[in-house]
Amino acid sequence: MEILRSCIFHTPGNAFHNAAALTALPDGGLVIENGKIVACEDFAAIRTAFPDAPVRDLRDGYLLPGFIDTHIHFPQVRIIGGLGRSLLDWLDCITLPEESRLSESPYATELAQEFVHHLAVHGTTTSLVFGAHFPEAMRAFFAASARSGLRIISGLVLSDRKLFPELHQTPAAAFDASQQLIAEFHGQHRLRYAVIPRFALSASEAMLEVCQTLLRENPALHFTTHINENPLEVHEVAGLFPWAADYLAVYERYGLTGRRSILAHNVQATNSELRRLKAHHCSVAHCPASNAALGSGIFPMRRHLNAGVHFALGTDVGGGTGFGMLKEALQAYLMQRVAPDVLTLSPAQMLYLATRAGAEALALENETGDFQKGKAADYVYLRAPQGSVLAGALQDLSDPDSILAALITMAGPESIAEVHVEGDLVYENQLPH
Ligand SMILES: [Zn+2]
Repeated sequence: MEILRSCIFHTPGNAFHNAAALTALPDGGLVIENGKIVACEDFAAIRTAFPDAPVRDLRDGYLLPGFIDTHIHFPQVRIIGGLGRSLLDWLDCITLPEESRLSESPYATELAQEFVHHLAVHGTTTSLVFGAHFPEAMRAFFAASARSGLRIISGLVLSDRKLFPELHQTPAAAFDASQQLIAEFHGQHRLRYAVIPRFALSASEAMLEVCQTLLRENPALHFTTHINENPLEVHEVAGLFPWAADYLAVYERYGLTGRRSILAHNVQATNSELRRLKAHHCSVAHCPASNAALGSGIFPMRRHLNAGVHFALGTDVGGGTGFGMLKEALQAYLMQRVAPDVLTLSPAQMLYLATRAGAEALALENETGDFQKGKAADYVYLRAPQGSVLAGALQDLSDPDSILAALITMAGPESIAEVHVEGDLVYENQLPH
Protein backbone atom coordinates (compact mmCIF):
# COMPACT_ATOMS: atom_id res chain seq x y z
CA MET A 1 0.00 0.00 0.00
CA GLU A 2 1.15 3.52 -0.83
CA ILE A 3 -0.29 7.01 -0.35
CA LEU A 4 0.38 9.63 -3.01
CA ARG A 5 0.11 13.13 -1.58
CA SER A 6 -0.57 15.82 -4.16
CA CYS A 7 -3.07 18.25 -5.60
CA ILE A 8 -5.63 15.92 -7.16
CA PHE A 9 -8.28 16.49 -9.82
CA HIS A 10 -10.81 14.00 -11.19
CA THR A 11 -14.43 13.86 -12.40
CA PRO A 12 -16.23 10.90 -10.82
CA GLY A 13 -19.45 11.89 -12.63
CA ASN A 14 -20.63 13.29 -15.94
CA ALA A 15 -19.56 16.93 -15.91
CA PHE A 16 -22.29 17.87 -18.41
CA HIS A 17 -25.07 16.49 -16.20
CA ASN A 18 -23.71 17.52 -12.84
CA ALA A 19 -22.11 20.89 -12.13
CA ALA A 20 -20.42 19.43 -9.04
CA ALA A 21 -18.79 16.57 -10.96
CA LEU A 22 -15.27 17.90 -10.40
CA THR A 23 -13.45 16.69 -7.32
CA ALA A 24 -10.52 18.97 -6.54
CA LEU A 25 -8.32 18.17 -3.53
CA PRO A 26 -5.64 20.87 -3.07
CA ASP A 27 -3.88 18.63 -0.52
CA GLY A 28 -5.16 15.21 -1.46
CA GLY A 29 -4.23 11.63 -0.76
CA LEU A 30 -4.57 8.79 -3.26
CA VAL A 31 -4.22 5.36 -1.68
CA ILE A 32 -3.10 2.55 -3.98
CA GLU A 33 -2.76 -1.15 -3.30
CA ASN A 34 -2.08 -3.91 -5.85
CA GLY A 35 -2.68 -1.51 -8.73
CA LYS A 36 -6.13 -0.49 -7.48
CA ILE A 37 -7.42 2.69 -5.85
CA VAL A 38 -8.32 2.13 -2.22
CA ALA A 39 -9.32 5.72 -1.37
CA CYS A 40 -9.06 9.29 -2.63
CA GLU A 41 -9.75 12.12 -0.19
CA ASP A 42 -8.15 15.05 1.63
CA PHE A 43 -4.73 14.02 2.84
CA ALA A 44 -5.61 14.63 6.50
CA ALA A 45 -8.49 12.14 6.33
CA ILE A 46 -6.35 9.63 4.45
CA ARG A 47 -3.51 9.94 6.99
CA THR A 48 -5.95 9.18 9.81
CA ALA A 49 -7.50 6.23 8.02
CA PHE A 50 -4.17 4.72 6.94
CA PRO A 51 -1.70 5.80 9.64
CA ASP A 52 1.01 3.27 8.76
CA ALA A 53 1.08 3.45 4.96
CA PRO A 54 4.16 5.10 3.42
CA VAL A 55 3.57 8.49 1.80
CA ARG A 56 5.09 9.68 -1.45
CA ASP A 57 5.18 13.47 -1.51
CA LEU A 58 4.17 14.81 -4.93
CA ARG A 59 3.09 18.24 -3.79
CA ASP A 60 5.23 19.90 -6.45
CA GLY A 61 2.75 18.69 -9.07
CA TYR A 62 -0.75 17.44 -9.81
CA LEU A 63 -2.41 14.04 -10.14
CA LEU A 64 -4.98 13.49 -12.88
CA PRO A 65 -6.57 10.27 -14.13
CA GLY A 66 -4.77 8.77 -17.14
CA PHE A 67 -6.04 10.25 -20.40
CA ILE A 68 -8.30 8.23 -22.69
CA ASP A 69 -8.08 8.68 -26.46
CA THR A 70 -11.07 7.16 -28.24
CA HIS A 71 -9.88 7.71 -31.83
CA ILE A 72 -6.32 7.59 -33.14
CA HIS A 73 -4.57 5.81 -36.03
CA PHE A 74 -1.28 4.01 -35.37
CA PRO A 75 -0.11 3.90 -39.04
CA GLN A 76 -0.39 7.70 -39.22
CA VAL A 77 2.15 8.60 -36.53
CA ARG A 78 4.56 10.11 -39.08
CA ILE A 79 2.09 12.06 -41.22
CA ILE A 80 0.83 14.56 -38.67
CA GLY A 81 0.89 18.04 -40.16
CA GLY A 82 -0.42 17.32 -43.67
CA LEU A 83 -2.36 20.56 -43.72
CA GLY A 84 -4.33 22.26 -46.46
CA ARG A 85 -6.41 19.32 -47.73
CA SER A 86 -9.89 17.97 -47.09
CA LEU A 87 -10.65 14.38 -46.11
CA LEU A 88 -10.77 12.44 -49.39
CA ASP A 89 -7.90 14.37 -50.95
CA TRP A 90 -5.83 13.99 -47.76
CA LEU A 91 -6.48 10.23 -47.77
CA ASP A 92 -5.38 9.86 -51.41
CA CYS A 93 -2.32 12.09 -51.33
CA ILE A 94 -0.89 11.65 -47.84
CA THR A 95 -2.49 8.94 -45.75
CA LEU A 96 -3.10 5.92 -47.96
CA PRO A 97 0.41 5.93 -49.51
CA GLU A 98 1.82 5.86 -45.98
CA GLU A 99 -0.62 3.15 -44.79
CA SER A 100 0.40 1.02 -47.80
CA ARG A 101 3.98 1.01 -46.51
CA LEU A 102 2.86 -1.02 -43.50
CA SER A 103 2.81 -4.13 -45.69
CA GLU A 104 6.52 -4.21 -44.83
CA SER A 105 6.76 -5.69 -41.34
CA PRO A 106 10.01 -3.98 -40.26
CA TYR A 107 8.45 -0.61 -41.01
CA ALA A 108 5.24 -1.53 -39.19
CA THR A 109 7.27 -2.65 -36.16
CA GLU A 110 9.18 0.63 -36.10
CA LEU A 111 5.99 2.69 -36.28
CA ALA A 112 4.25 0.57 -33.64
CA GLN A 113 7.04 1.14 -31.13
CA GLU A 114 7.15 4.84 -31.90
CA PHE A 115 3.37 5.17 -31.60
CA VAL A 116 2.93 3.51 -28.21
CA HIS A 117 5.88 5.47 -26.86
CA HIS A 118 4.22 8.75 -27.84
CA LEU A 119 0.94 7.69 -26.22
CA ALA A 120 2.73 7.13 -22.91
CA VAL A 121 4.78 10.33 -23.19
CA HIS A 122 1.54 12.28 -23.53
CA GLY A 123 -0.15 10.59 -20.56
CA THR A 124 -2.62 8.52 -22.56
CA THR A 125 -3.15 5.33 -20.58
CA THR A 126 -6.14 3.93 -22.51
CA SER A 127 -6.70 4.18 -26.21
CA LEU A 128 -8.98 2.88 -28.96
CA VAL A 129 -6.59 2.62 -31.87
CA PHE A 130 -7.41 2.28 -35.55
CA GLY A 131 -5.00 -0.37 -36.76
CA ALA A 132 -3.37 -1.18 -40.08
CA HIS A 133 -4.81 -3.05 -43.08
CA PHE A 134 -2.18 -5.84 -42.76
CA PRO A 135 -2.36 -8.70 -40.23
CA GLU A 136 1.41 -8.82 -39.71
CA ALA A 137 1.46 -5.09 -38.98
CA MET A 138 -1.25 -5.72 -36.37
CA ARG A 139 0.83 -8.48 -34.76
CA ALA A 140 3.69 -5.97 -34.48
CA PHE A 141 1.33 -3.39 -33.05
CA PHE A 142 -0.23 -5.67 -30.43
CA ALA A 143 3.25 -6.88 -29.42
CA ALA A 144 4.44 -3.28 -28.95
CA SER A 145 1.23 -2.43 -27.09
CA ALA A 146 1.69 -5.39 -24.72
CA ARG A 147 5.27 -4.29 -23.97
CA SER A 148 4.16 -0.69 -23.36
CA GLY A 149 1.89 -1.65 -20.45
CA LEU A 150 -0.85 0.60 -21.84
CA ARG A 151 -4.52 -0.33 -22.08
CA ILE A 152 -5.05 -0.65 -25.84
CA ILE A 153 -8.10 -1.64 -27.87
CA SER A 154 -7.33 -2.15 -31.54
CA GLY A 155 -7.90 -4.34 -34.57
CA LEU A 156 -7.24 -5.01 -38.22
CA VAL A 157 -8.76 -2.36 -40.49
CA LEU A 158 -11.08 -3.89 -43.10
CA SER A 159 -11.66 -2.54 -46.62
CA ASP A 160 -12.49 -4.07 -49.97
CA ARG A 161 -13.30 -1.16 -52.26
CA LYS A 162 -12.23 2.40 -53.08
CA LEU A 163 -9.01 3.48 -51.36
CA PHE A 164 -5.94 1.77 -52.82
CA PRO A 165 -6.17 -1.84 -54.09
CA GLU A 166 -3.11 -2.81 -52.03
CA LEU A 167 -5.13 -2.04 -48.88
CA HIS A 168 -7.97 -4.41 -49.80
CA GLN A 169 -8.71 -7.85 -48.40
CA THR A 170 -11.42 -10.21 -49.58
CA PRO A 171 -14.22 -10.54 -47.01
CA ALA A 172 -13.22 -14.19 -46.44
CA ALA A 173 -9.56 -13.30 -45.83
CA ALA A 174 -10.61 -10.43 -43.56
CA PHE A 175 -12.75 -12.80 -41.49
CA ASP A 176 -9.99 -15.42 -41.10
CA ALA A 177 -7.27 -12.88 -40.28
CA SER A 178 -9.52 -11.14 -37.74
CA GLN A 179 -10.41 -14.44 -36.03
CA GLN A 180 -6.73 -15.32 -35.72
CA LEU A 181 -5.82 -11.93 -34.27
CA ILE A 182 -8.72 -12.10 -31.80
CA ALA A 183 -7.53 -15.53 -30.63
CA GLU A 184 -3.95 -14.32 -30.27
CA PHE A 185 -4.44 -10.96 -28.58
CA HIS A 186 -7.93 -10.23 -27.19
CA GLY A 187 -7.73 -10.30 -23.39
CA GLN A 188 -3.94 -10.71 -23.32
CA HIS A 189 -2.02 -8.26 -21.10
CA ARG A 190 -4.06 -5.04 -21.22
CA LEU A 191 -5.20 -5.61 -24.80
CA ARG A 192 -8.67 -5.86 -26.27
CA TYR A 193 -9.84 -6.33 -29.83
CA ALA A 194 -12.06 -4.07 -31.94
CA VAL A 195 -13.77 -4.80 -35.27
CA ILE A 196 -12.89 -1.91 -37.59
CA PRO A 197 -14.18 -1.37 -41.12
CA ARG A 198 -12.41 1.79 -42.27
CA PHE A 199 -15.70 3.45 -43.22
CA ALA A 200 -18.83 2.60 -45.21
CA LEU A 201 -17.21 4.15 -48.26
CA SER A 202 -14.55 1.43 -48.47
CA ALA A 203 -16.53 -1.58 -47.24
CA SER A 204 -18.86 -3.66 -49.43
CA GLU A 205 -22.01 -5.19 -48.02
CA ALA A 206 -20.18 -8.52 -47.83
CA MET A 207 -17.44 -6.90 -45.72
CA LEU A 208 -20.00 -5.32 -43.39
CA GLU A 209 -21.54 -8.77 -42.98
CA VAL A 210 -18.12 -10.06 -41.95
CA CYS A 211 -18.03 -7.36 -39.26
CA GLN A 212 -21.49 -8.40 -38.09
CA THR A 213 -20.47 -12.06 -37.87
CA LEU A 214 -17.27 -11.24 -35.97
CA LEU A 215 -19.26 -9.26 -33.39
CA ARG A 216 -21.92 -11.97 -33.09
CA GLU A 217 -19.30 -14.63 -32.51
CA ASN A 218 -17.31 -12.44 -30.09
CA PRO A 219 -19.79 -10.24 -28.19
CA ALA A 220 -17.12 -8.82 -25.86
CA LEU A 221 -15.37 -7.03 -28.73
CA HIS A 222 -15.59 -3.32 -29.46
CA PHE A 223 -16.63 -1.86 -32.80
CA THR A 224 -15.33 1.36 -34.28
CA THR A 225 -15.38 3.18 -37.60
CA HIS A 226 -15.88 6.65 -39.10
CA ILE A 227 -19.21 8.40 -39.76
CA ASN A 228 -20.44 11.75 -41.11
CA GLU A 229 -17.03 13.40 -41.21
CA ASN A 230 -17.08 15.37 -44.45
CA PRO A 231 -19.97 16.41 -46.78
CA LEU A 232 -18.39 14.82 -49.89
CA GLU A 233 -17.81 11.54 -48.02
CA VAL A 234 -21.46 11.54 -46.87
CA HIS A 235 -22.60 12.17 -50.44
CA GLU A 236 -20.49 9.29 -51.82
CA VAL A 237 -21.75 6.87 -49.15
CA ALA A 238 -25.33 7.77 -50.12
CA GLY A 239 -24.50 6.83 -53.71
CA LEU A 240 -22.99 3.46 -52.74
CA PHE A 241 -25.89 2.45 -50.46
CA PRO A 242 -29.00 3.75 -52.24
CA TRP A 243 -31.27 1.78 -49.92
CA ALA A 244 -29.91 3.56 -46.82
CA ALA A 245 -31.81 6.61 -45.55
CA ASP A 246 -28.57 8.09 -44.20
CA TYR A 247 -24.98 7.16 -43.22
CA LEU A 248 -25.91 5.58 -39.89
CA ALA A 249 -28.50 3.35 -41.58
CA VAL A 250 -25.63 1.48 -43.31
CA TYR A 251 -24.11 0.45 -39.97
CA GLU A 252 -27.52 -0.22 -38.43
CA ARG A 253 -28.44 -2.65 -41.21
CA TYR A 254 -25.48 -4.88 -40.23
CA GLY A 255 -26.02 -4.72 -36.46
CA LEU A 256 -22.92 -2.60 -35.89
CA THR A 257 -24.55 -0.07 -33.56
CA GLY A 258 -24.49 -0.94 -29.89
CA ARG A 259 -23.10 -0.07 -26.46
CA ARG A 260 -19.54 -0.93 -27.56
CA SER A 261 -19.74 0.98 -30.86
CA ILE A 262 -17.65 4.13 -31.09
CA LEU A 263 -18.23 6.18 -34.23
CA ALA A 264 -15.68 8.85 -35.04
CA HIS A 265 -16.56 12.44 -36.00
CA ASN A 266 -20.32 12.70 -36.67
CA VAL A 267 -19.87 16.33 -37.66
CA GLN A 268 -22.58 16.15 -40.38
CA ALA A 269 -25.15 14.26 -38.27
CA THR A 270 -28.88 14.60 -38.92
CA ASN A 271 -31.39 14.83 -36.06
CA SER A 272 -32.73 11.41 -36.95
CA GLU A 273 -29.23 9.91 -36.69
CA LEU A 274 -28.70 11.54 -33.30
CA ARG A 275 -31.97 10.09 -32.01
CA ARG A 276 -30.99 6.61 -33.20
CA LEU A 277 -27.43 6.83 -31.84
CA LYS A 278 -28.94 7.58 -28.44
CA ALA A 279 -31.39 4.68 -28.75
CA HIS A 280 -28.56 2.28 -29.67
CA HIS A 281 -26.31 3.57 -26.79
CA CYS A 282 -23.52 4.28 -29.28
CA SER A 283 -20.75 6.74 -28.46
CA VAL A 284 -19.17 9.34 -30.69
CA ALA A 285 -15.44 10.07 -30.76
CA HIS A 286 -15.17 13.83 -31.14
CA CYS A 287 -11.89 14.92 -32.79
CA PRO A 288 -11.86 18.72 -32.84
CA ALA A 289 -8.29 19.26 -34.07
CA SER A 290 -8.80 16.91 -37.00
CA ASN A 291 -12.18 18.47 -37.83
CA ALA A 292 -10.52 21.89 -38.02
CA ALA A 293 -7.34 20.75 -39.80
CA LEU A 294 -9.25 18.89 -42.54
CA GLY A 295 -11.93 21.58 -42.73
CA SER A 296 -14.59 18.99 -41.91
CA GLY A 297 -16.65 21.41 -39.83
CA ILE A 298 -17.58 22.28 -36.28
CA PHE A 299 -18.84 19.37 -34.19
CA PRO A 300 -22.50 19.96 -33.19
CA MET A 301 -21.82 19.42 -29.50
CA ARG A 302 -24.93 21.13 -28.25
CA ARG A 303 -27.09 18.95 -30.53
CA HIS A 304 -25.34 15.82 -29.22
CA LEU A 305 -25.97 16.95 -25.64
CA ASN A 306 -29.61 17.78 -26.36
CA ALA A 307 -30.13 14.40 -28.01
CA GLY A 308 -28.36 12.64 -25.12
CA VAL A 309 -25.70 11.09 -27.39
CA HIS A 310 -22.57 10.25 -25.44
CA PHE A 311 -19.28 11.60 -26.81
CA ALA A 312 -15.64 11.58 -25.74
CA LEU A 313 -12.43 12.88 -27.29
CA GLY A 314 -10.09 11.49 -29.92
CA THR A 315 -6.91 13.07 -31.22
CA ASP A 316 -7.34 11.42 -34.64
CA VAL A 317 -3.59 11.36 -35.28
CA GLY A 318 -2.63 11.94 -38.10
CA GLY A 319 -5.65 13.98 -39.33
CA GLY A 320 -5.36 15.63 -35.91
CA THR A 321 -2.44 17.69 -34.75
CA GLY A 322 -0.81 15.51 -32.09
CA PHE A 323 -1.15 13.08 -29.20
CA GLY A 324 -1.93 15.48 -26.36
CA MET A 325 -5.35 14.88 -24.85
CA LEU A 326 -5.34 18.08 -22.80
CA LYS A 327 -4.55 19.98 -25.98
CA GLU A 328 -7.45 18.15 -27.64
CA ALA A 329 -9.76 19.20 -24.80
CA LEU A 330 -8.57 22.78 -25.28
CA GLN A 331 -9.25 22.46 -29.01
CA ALA A 332 -12.81 21.31 -28.24
CA TYR A 333 -13.18 24.38 -26.04
CA LEU A 334 -11.84 26.69 -28.75
CA MET A 335 -14.11 25.28 -31.46
CA GLN A 336 -17.26 25.41 -29.31
CA ARG A 337 -16.38 28.93 -28.25
CA VAL A 338 -16.77 30.05 -31.88
CA ALA A 339 -19.51 27.61 -32.90
CA PRO A 340 -22.75 29.17 -34.22
CA ASP A 341 -24.54 27.88 -31.10
CA VAL A 342 -21.77 28.86 -28.69
CA LEU A 343 -21.03 26.48 -25.82
CA THR A 344 -18.40 27.47 -23.25
CA LEU A 345 -16.86 24.34 -21.77
CA SER A 346 -15.82 24.45 -18.12
CA PRO A 347 -12.44 23.06 -16.97
CA ALA A 348 -14.36 20.20 -15.33
CA GLN A 349 -16.06 19.36 -18.62
CA MET A 350 -12.73 19.43 -20.46
CA LEU A 351 -11.11 17.10 -17.91
CA TYR A 352 -14.15 14.82 -18.04
CA LEU A 353 -13.95 14.65 -21.85
CA ALA A 354 -10.25 13.69 -21.70
CA THR A 355 -10.74 11.02 -19.02
CA ARG A 356 -14.00 9.59 -17.70
CA ALA A 357 -16.06 10.29 -20.83
CA GLY A 358 -13.61 8.09 -22.75
CA ALA A 359 -13.95 5.30 -20.20
CA GLU A 360 -17.75 5.53 -20.52
CA ALA A 361 -17.54 5.43 -24.33
CA LEU A 362 -15.40 2.28 -24.14
CA ALA A 363 -17.63 0.65 -21.49
CA LEU A 364 -14.63 0.76 -19.13
CA GLU A 365 -16.17 3.17 -16.60
CA ASN A 366 -15.98 0.57 -13.85
CA GLU A 367 -12.30 0.02 -14.56
CA THR A 368 -10.69 3.43 -15.22
CA GLY A 369 -11.38 7.11 -15.95
CA ASP A 370 -11.39 8.57 -12.43
CA PHE A 371 -10.12 7.89 -8.90
CA GLN A 372 -13.12 6.13 -7.36
CA LYS A 373 -12.43 3.24 -5.00
CA GLY A 374 -11.85 -0.08 -6.74
CA LYS A 375 -10.76 1.33 -10.08
CA ALA A 376 -7.35 0.78 -11.62
CA ALA A 377 -4.64 3.20 -10.51
CA ASP A 378 -4.24 4.78 -13.95
CA TYR A 379 -2.82 8.25 -13.36
CA VAL A 380 -0.69 11.04 -14.70
CA TYR A 381 1.64 13.04 -12.48
CA LEU A 382 1.92 16.53 -13.99
CA ARG A 383 4.71 18.88 -12.95
CA ALA A 384 5.39 22.21 -14.67
CA PRO A 385 9.05 22.49 -15.71
CA GLN A 386 10.97 25.17 -13.83
CA GLY A 387 10.95 28.46 -15.69
CA SER A 388 8.09 27.41 -18.00
CA VAL A 389 5.16 29.66 -18.81
CA LEU A 390 2.94 27.17 -17.00
CA ALA A 391 5.08 27.26 -13.83
CA GLY A 392 4.82 31.04 -13.78
CA ALA A 393 1.07 30.99 -14.30
CA LEU A 394 0.51 28.46 -11.51
CA GLN A 395 2.45 30.43 -8.90
CA ASP A 396 -0.36 32.78 -7.99
CA LEU A 397 -3.34 30.51 -8.59
CA SER A 398 -5.27 28.90 -5.76
CA ASP A 399 -8.77 28.46 -7.19
CA PRO A 400 -9.10 24.85 -8.48
CA ASP A 401 -10.94 25.81 -11.69
CA SER A 402 -8.22 28.31 -12.58
CA ILE A 403 -5.44 25.79 -11.87
CA LEU A 404 -7.15 23.15 -13.98
CA ALA A 405 -7.76 25.64 -16.81
CA ALA A 406 -4.07 26.59 -16.77
CA LEU A 407 -3.01 22.92 -16.86
CA ILE A 408 -5.36 22.15 -19.76
CA THR A 409 -4.18 25.19 -21.69
CA MET A 410 -0.44 24.87 -21.13
CA ALA A 411 0.64 21.42 -19.91
CA GLY A 412 2.32 19.70 -22.86
CA PRO A 413 4.38 16.50 -22.74
CA GLU A 414 7.27 18.33 -21.05
CA SER A 415 4.97 18.69 -18.01
CA ILE A 416 4.11 15.01 -17.80
CA ALA A 417 6.48 13.66 -15.20
CA GLU A 418 5.14 10.12 -14.73
CA VAL A 419 2.44 7.91 -16.18
CA HIS A 420 1.07 4.81 -14.40
CA VAL A 421 -1.31 2.06 -15.47
CA GLU A 422 -2.68 -0.14 -12.66
CA GLY A 423 0.02 1.44 -10.53
CA ASP A 424 2.81 0.31 -12.89
CA LEU A 425 5.14 3.04 -14.09
CA VAL A 426 4.86 3.05 -17.91
CA TYR A 427 6.68 6.33 -18.54
CA GLU A 428 8.95 8.65 -16.60
CA ASN A 429 10.09 12.01 -17.93
CA GLN A 430 13.89 12.29 -17.62
CA LEU A 431 13.98 16.05 -18.19
CA PRO A 432 15.52 18.04 -15.31
CA HIS A 433 13.00 20.01 -13.31
ZN1 LIG B 1 -9.90 8.63 -38.08
